[in-house]
Amino acid sequence: MASNLLAVFDFDHTLVDGNTDTWITKLYEDARHLQNNQDLCWTDIMAEVFRTLHEKKFTKLDFEHCLQSLPFTEGMKELLSFISTQNIQCAIISDSNSYFIKYLLEFGNVMHCVKEIYSNPANWTDSQLLTIKHYHTHNCGQCPINMCKGDILKSYIRNTDSAEKTILYIGDGRNDYCATLQMKPSDYVFAREGYRLLKLLKQSVQILQKTQPIVIPWTTGFDILSEVKSIVEEQE
Ligand SMILES: [Mg+2]
Ligand SMILES: [Zn+2]
Repeated sequence: MASNLLAVFDFDHTLVDGNTDTWITKLYEDARHLQNNQDLCWTDIMAEVFRTLHEKKFTKLDFEHCLQSLPFTEGMKELLSFISTQNIQCAIISDSNSYFIKYLLEFGNVMHCVKEIYSNPANWTDSQLLTIKHYHTHNCGQCPINMCKGDILKSYIRNTDSAEKTILYIGDGRNDYCATLQMKPSDYVFAREGYRLLKLLKQSVQILQKTQPIVIPWTTGFDILSEVKSIVEEQE
């Protein structure tokens, strides 16, 4: 039964083919230099980017027009639709922010496919400033202070009684690696070809000789879709 699967997606460079936080600086290229600050946590940098855009009088509508030009990764909408028609539980864990993700899912007509979104909470004030907060605090030494995806996945599995489910984790980046450490050998990690997560997974097998979930590299969402279709068939 397909309902014994749990799909977890990253957002930037996974569901969408770019980084929402750098994409938004297309509105005002001068804001880009703020993102080179090594001393600040990325979420705090984005709070500063949003303050700068607010000072320059960019509104929610400008943000929306800018985000509309960020494409979904090829095949990802089809993958989300398939997951939805199979009644597979589906969540997003992302270090972007709740506003960008919800807006793009709605704009892409795929909001109904996703049950939960775990991301840094972002809200518009009456004066059109987008505010952003850290998602949580945690004790993981490997992750940025605002978000540990491993911690989020662990509580998600516990809170939704999903320990028995087979997890399908779809991601690309370094911050997805911690989540894969929470997964069982019978789970699947879909790691984007040519991106950091796949390299880290290969290294951890070679260097640490670690048992890990089944790793499947992907280039488009269609690659993942055909794998997920076979996994669904096997489960029936
Ligand atoms: Mg990513
Ligand atoms: Zn972590």
